[in-house]
Amino acid sequence: MMRHVVGSTSQESDSSKKRKSSDGKGGSSPEGNAKQARWDTEGLATLRPCEEPSSSNHVVREPQRDPELSVEDLKQNLRHKDDELKKAISTQDKLLRELSSSVECPVCYNVPRVAPVPCCSNGHVICQRCKAKLENCPTCRVRLTDCVSQIAATIIHRVSHTCEFRYEGCTFKSDIDKITDHESSCIFRHVRCPHWACDETITAKNLTHHVIASECGDNYRDKPLPYREEMEYARALDDEEGNGFWRPSLIQFDGITFYLQVEKSGKTKNWYFYVQMEGSALDCKMYGVTIKVRKSLVSEGHSVVYNGDVCPIDIKGVGEVENSGGGLNIRNSIMENIFDVDALDRSDLEQQEESGGDVEGERFRFWVEVDIFKSPKITAVKTEKVVKNEK
Ligand SMILES: [Zn+2]
Ligand SMILES: [Zn+2]
Ligand SMILES: [Zn+2]
Ligand SMILES: [Zn+2]
Repeated sequence: MMRHVVGSTSQESDSSKKRKSSDGKGGSSPEGNAKQARWDTEGLATLRPCEEPSSSNHVVREPQRDPELSVEDLKQNLRHKDDELKKAISTQDKLLRELSSSVECPVCYNVPRVAPVPCCSNGHVICQRCKAKLENCPTCRVRLTDCVSQIAATIIHRVSHTCEFRYEGCTFKSDIDKITDHESSCIFRHVRCPHWACDETITAKNLTHHVIASECGDNYRDKPLPYREEMEYARALDDEEGNGFWRPSLIQFDGITFYLQVEKSGKTKNWYFYVQMEGSALDCKMYGVTIKVRKSLVSEGHSVVYNGDVCPIDIKGVGEVENSGGGLNIRNSIMENIFDVDALDRSDLEQQEESGGDVEGERFRFWVEVDIFKSPKITAVKTEKVVKNEK
């Protein structure tokens, strides 16, 4: 602070110097009076006591250090200043906490995030969601009207807001503008299990554990990338609407779990191949994926390739994948060309028919290959920053 004030004043003095010398009447003028002489750069250093500038002049002198002050004294002063600063910060923190609790809803303990903030005729604040369910003020029992608190509307923009997943263990706090962004990618937020038939909701942080422990996916996290999986399909295993589902395969990249998802939709007659990341839509921007669906690993014939985005873990099922814009879909007729009819199963099929048992029908095979990488866009931005910093 001090430094800034001194700097700006001496700058002013500098520009004054420039102004004075450019008018051609600087210290070099023979008629130059005492005042003009003072503005001369050299003159400043040689001022005699009788020429001491008055306080209205813009001359700045170095603050005089008390020669009596020892290093120990200076240290003591510094500690004192530090204590004062800490005290001021703690007073301010206390005030903000008090302000925050003054606008906290007494029912759900949330600090409202949008104005207008409802209150009772006695000024007790309540959040909009809880007010909709109540007739009387939970604090003083008067009948609730359409009263709103202007002061609460101001306070909610000044205090810090806690993450809505605090009861799950999140300790994040921030001002009102950033809290929603945090919550949409908070690792304590609730996400749905990526298995199509599992209805569990788990905190994002514990998802991998759930999927493995509950056998909601196949764990291939120790396999190197590109990950290759041979998949099997039999028409007879489709459900009544012609939908086919596969268990997600867990793969790992950059210490993060990703899920390869394959689904066949009877309604759209499309096959969907997509990779979900255990992360939010924002986290997904940092990674890209290549998905290849191919007949064989030795030839590129009959294959379809996708290079694009990974999908966030917050979406579930092909309906939501369609809207997210990530993933590959292949028409059923194209898939028919990619299929490799399982020759070995032909004899099984005949046996099944002969024995009169449940016939699964022909079995088809195809390969899915997945490679995950850091998004080139992000890498480009980072490199640009480094280059700028080096300049
Ligand atoms: Zn409430
Ligand atoms: Zn009240
Ligand atoms: Zn959080
Ligand atoms: Zn599950």
